[in-house]
Amino acid sequence: MTKIPACFSETYAEAREKFIAAAKAKGAAVDSHEHPLKGPGGETLAMDVAYIGPADADAAIALGAGTHGVEGYCGSGLQTALLETGFADRLPEGAALVLIHAINPFGFAWSRRVNEDNVDLNRNFVDHDAPYPENPGYEELIDVINLPDLDPDTIKSAQEKLLAYADKNGFPALQHAMSAGQYAHPGGVQFGGNAPSWSQRTLREVVRKYLAPASRIVFIDFHSGLGPRGHGEIISTAAPGTPTYDRMTALWGDEVISTKGEGSVSSNIAGSITDFLAEELDGKTLAACGLEFGTLPITDVSFALQADNWLWQHGGAENPRAKEVATLIRNAFYVNEDDWKEEIFARAEEVAVKGLKGLE
Ligand SMILES: [Zn+2]
Repeated sequence: MTKIPACFSETYAEAREKFIAAAKAKGAAVDSHEHPLKGPGGETLAMDVAYIGPADADAAIALGAGTHGVEGYCGSGLQTALLETGFADRLPEGAALVLIHAINPFGFAWSRRVNEDNVDLNRNFVDHDAPYPENPGYEELIDVINLPDLDPDTIKSAQEKLLAYADKNGFPALQHAMSAGQYAHPGGVQFGGNAPSWSQRTLREVVRKYLAPASRIVFIDFHSGLGPRGHGEIISTAAPGTPTYDRMTALWGDEVISTKGEGSVSSNIAGSITDFLAEELDGKTLAACGLEFGTLPITDVSFALQADNWLWQHGGAENPRAKEVATLIRNAFYVNEDDWKEEIFARAEEVAVKGLKGLE
């Protein structure tokens, strides 16, 4: 029997090896898109795609991991565990399974949520020729979101100012300011980029090659870092009442929570992968969600992102505090405990199995 925790890994290189081995053991064709940069151990970085099923499949379920780099510790483990526990054997006749490993391999390998350009990939799929979405809350809080140093006094003072903002404007307004993205400060937290990133361009190729030929597509992108520990929220960036949203509720019921409605752990964001899929696969029967697993309290997760951004504006891996900050950020997005891994796997499997109905 598959030991679920053993499907998770300590490094990107280990995760990649386990994923490719599990995929090949299931007869998958593995297509690797090599990234121009290397990992911390000099290892190859790549977006790896494993394809199981007939080449002309009219229906496909895709599972993504590592859109947010370091969140790949969660998503990669889930992909490998799903492969090893025989998820592919449950596909309806003629359907395909497409696993996209390390959508942002640089962030995964270097323990960052962002990519090699300090870009949050899930904010990068906007139209870069149009005016960018504005984030006035971010502008107001720019000096406290972006820490000048990691001295305890600086951190304490910044956290007090953030809490004062939440007291005045409500917690969702603070979360929006800190996490909805910004396009004006390339060295700042939550930068969405000013051009399509390597991961965006590569994912577009992958989607055109492996998903666009199908007419019925289900996409589940594994994320971590928001919500109660171990809980898996099904997040839709489609608004309630739209056909895409209705297709999602047909599969997953009222557990689908839209970022355009109320009650999601996520802010209403622009430039997400699920919005990109809706555009790229327009005319297809598509259900695309993020499956977001809770880790630590949001204040810890936010601080980890602030510390990470400070680090990479101050030398990155060369900085003496690099190890400490990398541990902080990894722990914010990946709970290295067996019970958490078992719990999120059970949830991922449940959501993926329900997703199979969308292929019929
Ligand atoms: Zn994420």
